[in-house]
Amino acid sequence: MIKVKKRKMLLLPGDGIGPEVIVEVKKIIEWFNKNKSLDFEIDEDLVGGSSYDKHGTPITDEVFYKALESEAVILGAVGGPKWDDLEFSKKPERALLKLRKELKLFANLRPAICFKQLVNASSLKPEIVSGLDIMIVRELTGGIYFGEPRGIKLVDNGERKGINTHVYTSNEIQRVAKVAFDLSKKRNNKVTSCEKSNVMEAGQLWKEEVQALHDKEYKEVKLEHMLADNCAMQLLRNPKQFDVIVTDNLFGDILSDEAAMLTGSLGLLPSASLGAKDKNGNIRSMYEPVHGSAPDIAGKGVANPIATILSFAMALKYSLNLDKEADKLEKAVQNVLDDGLRTKDILSKGTKEVSTTQMGDAIISKLK
Ligand code: NAD
Repeated sequence: MIKVKKRKMLLLPGDGIGPEVIVEVKKIIEWFNKNKSLDFEIDEDLVGGSSYDKHGTPITDEVFYKALESEAVILGAVGGPKWDDLEFSKKPERALLKLRKELKLFANLRPAICFKQLVNASSLKPEIVSGLDIMIVRELTGGIYFGEPRGIKLVDNGERKGINTHVYTSNEIQRVAKVAFDLSKKRNNKVTSCEKSNVMEAGQLWKEEVQALHDKEYKEVKLEHMLADNCAMQLLRNPKQFDVIVTDNLFGDILSDEAAMLTGSLGLLPSASLGAKDKNGNIRSMYEPVHGSAPDIAGKGVANPIATILSFAMALKYSLNLDKEADKLEKAVQNVLDDGLRTKDILSKGTKEVSTTQMGDAIISKLK
């Protein structure tokens, strides 16, 4: 068999259930290395609270540079009550913000797919969510979470004033819209762009820039504009009308959580954060489950590893151009669900409960 070039992957397990779910991904990477002649070079390091405990910082410079040099970073989760009282700059979540910002990961991709085997886990009627497959593209490094001025100020009458600034440039809007249009071409060729152009100038600019990019480069894609509040409603009323939704940082934060819940369980939801191409044409990227460190179940062996495994499948697709392997892995997950194996969070009548490790092993056995 011919060996392909080494691909550097950095695993950052983090805190809580992070290490438990990342171990399962590591087993899958090792399986691919052994059986598919892929040559992933795995490195692993601390991030979040576990890094703070050892180094006094949620991410060391060394780990940050490793992330810069990796083809893909796969992160578990960070945070937990142990670190809740730390000052802001030392909190575990600062590591994520630093990675997203410094790696310039401006596009956050969150698929919301309703597996047919789990259609009853959704709070919506089965006919509304069955077969659902949408992708939310959220702008991740701009908008109100980063805009200046910001802060809490004392004003003349002794009151306090909280300030955040919602700001976007043409380039910031167009580069994330481009990601959405390109994705839609591999899917159902439809993009819905969401903003609040009725009440916000930055929203008006968003709409104009997305339309201009469409007219210039993506005429073959169907584009529709929707106000973000209407989108929130339509996601509950008729989510299958959407293919790719592109929106800003704030609305994307909310709409992607809403869309995620249509599918039933946090333990199933992957995400990808993509940046610009570097000088060698490689894309900077980080992949992580949508869920957090779940301190309530950490160490019990019951965490669902599927979200993290599907995040690795996204890495195969978007960073490593290994679409076939990604499909194979996604299929293996489906097959295990078809067999009725479930971790505790998605357990229902007539299915069999398995541990985190057993779920990982079952997925590997389907790869075979
Ligand atoms: P959470 O996602 O960790 O947990 C919410 C609920 O979902 C819990 O009941 C948990 O047991 C369950 N759950 C989550 N993932 C699961 C899985 N894979 N399998 C089975 N059940 C699962 O959210 P939270 O409780 O609000 O936050 C806990 C900690 O995680 C906090 O410190 C928070 O800041 C942090 N957090 C980190 C990230 C991240 O690292 N990206 C994201 C969200 C929250």
